Amino acid sequence: MANYKNIETAFIHGGIYGDKNTGAVNVPIYQTSTYEQDGLGQDRGWEYSRTGNPTRAALEALIAELEHGKAGFAFGSGMAAITAVLSLFHAGDKIIISSNVYGGTFRVLDKVFNSFEISYSIEDTTNLQTLETKITPDVKAILIESPANPLLTITDIKGVADLAKKHNILSIVDNTFMTPYLQRPLELGVDIVVHSATKYLGGHSDVVSGLVVVNDEKLAERIAFIQNSTGGVLGPFDSFLLIRGIKTLGVRMDRHVSNAEKAVEFLQNHKAVKKVYYPGLKDAQGYEINKKQAKNGGAMISFELYENYDIKKFFSSLKLIALAESLGGVESLVCHPASMTHASIPYETRQKIGITDGLIRLSIGIENIDDLIDDLKQAIEESER
Ligand SMILES: *Cc1c(COP(=O)(O)O)cnc(C)c1O
Repeated sequence: MANYKNIETAFIHGGIYGDKNTGAVNVPIYQTSTYEQDGLGQDRGWEYSRTGNPTRAALEALIAELEHGKAGFAFGSGMAAITAVLSLFHAGDKIIISSNVYGGTFRVLDKVFNSFEISYSIEDTTNLQTLETKITPDVKAILIESPANPLLTITDIKGVADLAKKHNILSIVDNTFMTPYLQRPLELGVDIVVHSATKYLGGHSDVVSGLVVVNDEKLAERIAFIQNSTGGVLGPFDSFLLIRGIKTLGVRMDRHVSNAEKAVEFLQNHKAVKKVYYPGLKDAQGYEINKKQAKNGGAMISFELYENYDIKKFFSSLKLIALAESLGGVESLVCHPASMTHASIPYETRQKIGITDGLIRLSIGIENIDDLIDDLKQAIEESER
């Protein structure tokens, strides 16, 4: 392994670097499904690409190193990664999820794993005391996100990991919003980290992918078995794209975050803005906890406009920031949680949990921040009734 101490260098040199055979500085795209064997029972370490592929293996070694885990696994989407993790459980098991977990995670539990008699309960994971009272004997895992969508709610990751250890169950963190550059849950005692690498890790909105990292050999063996058995693996070309994306993760995140901090400042000082949700704000829910467990507040922002601003007009007036689902790409994206990502939640429930019709979620890209602020400014002006 190369000699370095810092994660910024690991983004570029981590895992398996380059190609021993040719000296190529990049891991080649091994676009192959199978490998010729030298004789019966004499393969060269590779048999079939569902089981293992050198390009995917380089990515898996890289994410394991970045999250400070023992083993990494790459899947065809974040949902495939989460599905593989949920496949660890048995009929009769229950999984606690935070109240604002990613919609797809809720859906796969509610509509797919439900048929296999794996149940879930939705709890407020920000309160560790009440959370502990929910750990009944059938509960086998707690799955959280911090920050969680769309109000960027913070959960004490180490607190949840400690609770899980005490009750001998698994803790799972979806680290999509922070990436290992800003937050490393395994270091806080968590058992399993999952990622939608579609977002910041890929970073260019050009690949759908998911990753799992674990810190325990036994758990690694079980995930490897599930990955090979169920087969939702990431292809060689997409693995290459992800390795390529991760090389610039450090510089991209620095710019994402500094842009986000400036956008937050602009929004907070605008008369049209009722509330800004950003974990880097001193008066934000969980500010102190986030400061302990993450490098900074990240680059996702939610905000609410006053009722005398027409939300439809605001979205249609944006000229640079695109209205789209997803996040974490170099381009800024905006979405309307009430009608897009959280539309499946009934109206009354949405009001109760703070997902009002005036709520706007921004994924701040790495464009020049002045252009982004100009776009927000003119769209807010256009939307005034
Ligand atoms: C997007 C997302 C997922 C799902 O990932 P896909 O790559 O879209 O399957 C899971 N968790 C979070 C937090 C996400 O943002």
